[in-house]
Amino acid sequence: MKTLAQARAERAKQLTEEMIQVGRGCGHEKFCTSDPGPFLGSVAGREGTENRAAHGNVEVQDICFRCGLSRRRLINGRHEEVSAWEPDPARVAKRVMREIQPAWRWQ
Ligand SMILES: [Zn+2]
Repeated sequence: MKTLAQARAERAKQLTEEMIQVGRGCGHEKFCTSDPGPFLGSVAGREGTENRAAHGNVEVQDICFRCGLSRRRLINGRHEEVSAWEPDPARVAKRVMREIQPAWRWQ
């Protein structure tokens, strides 16, 4: 018997892998950009290129219209640091919470 948390964690992993597959062939040409939020730290990740000149100001998130992957961008004047396109864990979690709910909700 799986617990609710286990079922959700499994689905989140599966969904993340599916989104990566879908995004693989996408050029991410069309995306929308969030309102700027505060700088919280580097977004370069393991493969990315850190640009310290872009640190300290704001961060925005781009979401691809076609595949749903997102990337984070730090902007400081003309300087920019860009993350890889990847599934947004917060959006995945939101979807999983909606999909898998405790059975007592329907009884
Ligand atoms: Zn895309």
